[in-house]
Amino acid sequence: MYPQDRLDNWKRGQGHWADVEPEKWNDWVWQLQNRLRSLEDIERYMPLSPSEREGCRLAGSKLALAITPHFFNLIDADDPEDPIRRQVIPRAEEMEIAPEERDDPLGEEHDMVAPGLVHRYPDRVLFLVTDRCASYCRYCTRSRLVSNAKGYDFHAEFAAALAYIRAHQEVRDVLLSGGDPLLLSDRKLDYLLGELRKIEHVEFIRIGSRIPVFLPQRITPALCEILKKHGPIFLSIHVNHPRECTLELRAACERLSYAGLVIGNQSVLLRGVNDEPDIMKSLVHRLLMMRVRPYYIYQGDLVAGSAHLRADVARGLEIIRSLRGHTSGYAVPQYVIDAPGGGGKIPVNPEYVLAMNEDEVLLRNYEGRTFRYPRGGTPAETAADSYEASAEPCSCIGG
Ligand code: SF4
Repeated sequence: MYPQDRLDNWKRGQGHWADVEPEKWNDWVWQLQNRLRSLEDIERYMPLSPSEREGCRLAGSKLALAITPHFFNLIDADDPEDPIRRQVIPRAEEMEIAPEERDDPLGEEHDMVAPGLVHRYPDRVLFLVTDRCASYCRYCTRSRLVSNAKGYDFHAEFAAALAYIRAHQEVRDVLLSGGDPLLLSDRKLDYLLGELRKIEHVEFIRIGSRIPVFLPQRITPALCEILKKHGPIFLSIHVNHPRECTLELRAACERLSYAGLVIGNQSVLLRGVNDEPDIMKSLVHRLLMMRVRPYYIYQGDLVAGSAHLRADVARGLEIIRSLRGHTSGYAVPQYVIDAPGGGGKIPVNPEYVLAMNEDEVLLRNYEGRTFRYPRGGTPAETAADSYEASAEPCSCIGG
């Protein structure tokens, strides 16, 4: 059983940097300037394995190494397989490329209509606004361009991307991502969000960011004011392990919520990090305690050099089975596989519908018990399509 989710079990504080003045520690620019960026930086605080030492040496040609002091403090230096460590400290295995892996596993380059603007689905665009992050995740789907270690030389062109969105009335949903959009200066974010809000057909603005997790100090009152001004904004954060839920992250999520943002979480299922039901259950409970709705669990994309971190799909299904019916419905995220090459997100669910005939459907509940349920509707409505739409239990009666 994973430790209790009570707030007094959550981490907080300056850890290795206890001597630093709190004003500096709480300054996001100080955190960025004092990131651990090399083997030597890390070994000042903890010994590394031969594989990690090799990984750190090679990181500069694959995906840069950078870890904020805030996030580094979460690593248990005595545990060589620590789940936080596995996410941000490179290993030699990153240099092994499996045959099914790709630099661009989701085929984004194919749908890039302006530098940084991906238009794949008719009504929404992905707008990559920077190639920088506060810390770098070793399994990053966009490691081809993020941090520029591979010489991609990414430069978002805001004017071209905004012109494209203005000209395409079908675009009602814009997702800002990167890199990390919340690393942009307040001035740039204000401008970008303001320009998007001026476009009448853009109804929905989303931001994907791991900044609250890596750098909660960035969530300043001034930033919250900007986000509030341009709301409603939907924010997807990225927490993978319950230990990432610090009191500082909780406070940052509170500030964001009070500014009117709707916050969801997207976890990536990672081997040795969160591919255990107890760990994922603790994570989703802590997320709800931070006003964050667990939204997706992603199966790891087939990113070049990430096989050592990808979990078995069977573990993902086991996790969903362990959550559905066993905890609050709000705590259960959707497990998805982003289809290689750009096929989109495919929900992956344990089998709850066992069979269906013309009259009824045979269901299995969370305890493994089976139930029959009449299909209902008039004969004309009992086509498979209309059945699919009514198979989900009504959310107002429980869960
Ligand atoms: S924060 Fe997101 S974009 Fe940045 S390295 Fe991690 S996964 Fe990639």
